[in-house]
Amino acid sequence: RSKSAGRSCYTMYDDAMSAELEARNTLEGDLRDAIAQCQFEVHYQPFYDAETRERRGVEALVRWRHPVKGLVPPDKFIPLAESTGLIVPLGEWIIGRVCDDATAWPDDVKVAVNLSPVQFKQSELFDVIQSALARSGLDPKRLEIEITESVLLERAAENESFIDRLKGLGISLALDDFGTGYSSLRSLTAFPFNKIKIDKSFVANLSVRDESAAVISSVVTLARGLGIQITAEGVETEEQLAQLRALGVNFAQGYLLGRPMPVEQLEQHLDIARASDETDEPAPQEEG
Ligand code: C2E
Ligand code: MG
Ligand code: MG
Ligand code: MG
Repeated sequence: RSKSAGRSCYTMYDDAMSAELEARNTLEGDLRDAIAQCQFEVHYQPFYDAETRERRGVEALVRWRHPVKGLVPPDKFIPLAESTGLIVPLGEWIIGRVCDDATAWPDDVKVAVNLSPVQFKQSELFDVIQSALARSGLDPKRLEIEITESVLLERAAENESFIDRLKGLGISLALDDFGTGYSSLRSLTAFPFNKIKIDKSFVANLSVRDESAAVISSVVTLARGLGIQITAEGVETEEQLAQLRALGVNFAQGYLLGRPMPVEQLEQHLDIARASDETDEPAPQEEG
């Protein structure tokens, strides 16, 4: 399964960083090495229909398997990857990896990818996504892009046309971490979101603060009026799930239902038989 991952990782390293080979004794140097050596893994966290608990899809969450530090979570390196521009080759690798993985799953499993504001500013991003879809054969309807409101603050006109092009491919669009950002109402109506992900801080506060239930309830009403679906993130208890269901949330994601996990484990968890295990495909070819 690492064949195409290995290949594309090296290719992108060559393209983006040929002049930067000297090793540096910093986290940035580590991060460059990590890209060169393909030390990243994409883990997947499932999300479910809040009512029926049927699987609906997964969110791709990147991890860095550091040779010394072990598994490093994205909050520890995505900001550095963004400020150094390394998020561009890394993000390209992630999109390719995700499309390749998801192609092996049943058609009813959607897959969501997070995009950072820095990636969003790259004019090549559309081509990167389009060619990852074309190369893997993944139906664009199964791919969802998650962005936060900060992406939408600048470059409104460019963003609009970019988002229109993505939607033109059939990809869906989710607004992540809703409730933590800025002009929520404006961004909700200005862009064609298919889904809102309510930030986990509201879910965590459900049992301690009545205001959280009031906020979620009004977001649900608003979203319904706009024809947008709602996911609650960070669902950790049955009690929270029951409350969210009563509030009318469509999807639930969180440790209660499944943690982010490596792809093999995800496939077991969702009882997915890999499509490639069932067909007579020729053996995968290693490429240098
Ligand atoms: P996010 O997109 O909002 O992802 C949800 C985060 O909540 C994940 O953290 C997930 O592991 C965590 N989470 C899920 N369920 C629960 C729960 O029940 N309780 C609690 N307390 N947490 C839960 P993670 O994996 O550490 O990712 C953090 C952030 O890093 C993500 O937030 C996303 O903004 C960013 N990120 C992750 N992968 C990528 C990526 O491939 N590209 C980019 N650009 N950003 C990424
Ligand atoms: Mg997300
Ligand atoms: Mg989130
Ligand atoms: Mg987040």
